[in-house]
Amino acid sequence: MRRRCDWCGLNYEREPGFFLGSIYVNYGLTAVLVTISYFALYAANIFPQQDVLVILAVFCFVFPVWFFRYARSLWLGFDQYWDPRDD
Ligand SMILES: [Zn+2]
Repeated sequence: MRRRCDWCGLNYEREPGFFLGSIYVNYGLTAVLVTISYFALYAANIFPQQDVLVILAVFCFVFPVWFFRYARSLWLGFDQYWDPRDD
């Protein structure tokens, strides 16, 4: 991860533990997507319930890994919006 934004110079490296909040973003979005997907797949009745369980379990492992960077970015943007820093 870069230390500063090339364009505006915003410091990406904040205090230790700052990006802990991005885990909540990542977990929350994963939980919402799995819940919606479960009910959608249940209602559509395309796959057997056992396959739905496997599909969503795999999703729970793959999606947060893929979304890790974006969750950090969202967290940083959220913090910058609500608590702007000049550095
Ligand atoms: Zn910038």
